[in-house]
Amino acid sequence: MDAPTKQRIAKLHPSVREEVTQIIAQCDQALTGKAKIRITQGLRTNAEQDSMYAQGRTTPGKKITNAKGGQSIHNYGFAVDICLIIEGKASWETAKDWDNDQIADWYECVKIFALHGWEWGGNWKTFKDMPHFEKRNLNSWRKLSKLKKDKNGYVILS
Ligand SMILES: [Zn+2]
Repeated sequence: MDAPTKQRIAKLHPSVREEVTQIIAQCDQALTGKAKIRITQGLRTNAEQDSMYAQGRTTPGKKITNAKGGQSIHNYGFAVDICLIIEGKASWETAKDWDNDQIADWYECVKIFALHGWEWGGNWKTFKDMPHFEKRNLNSWRKLSKLKKDKNGYVILS
């Protein structure tokens, strides 16, 4: 896996770092080297989330999120966004079968995340977020927002 992916995993909630490392390794193995998976975003600060929320509302551009700071699973380090790297270039193409095994590479990754209990944003009804995956048993920001945090700012799971 590439350096940006490693760096982003290192900032996820400590409880999922090992698991995400395994998921990414399994995705790369399934894609047989033609495409590789990269994490484009993991942990996002509340300030970063607030500036994303502002886009299309109080700052120029298209609306990209309905979540304010603290309302995204990314803000707790339990979500990742991915892309594929094909011949050195980032791709968000979800239908291509680069390794010719009759399953789109993107869906091969979706299946692997699902086996580990990660929910895919592509299954959401109101706002499909194809690059997004989040840890399923924790998928309520309201619950997460009530937890105490450790000295590094990560919520403490009981
Ligand atoms: Zn996301």
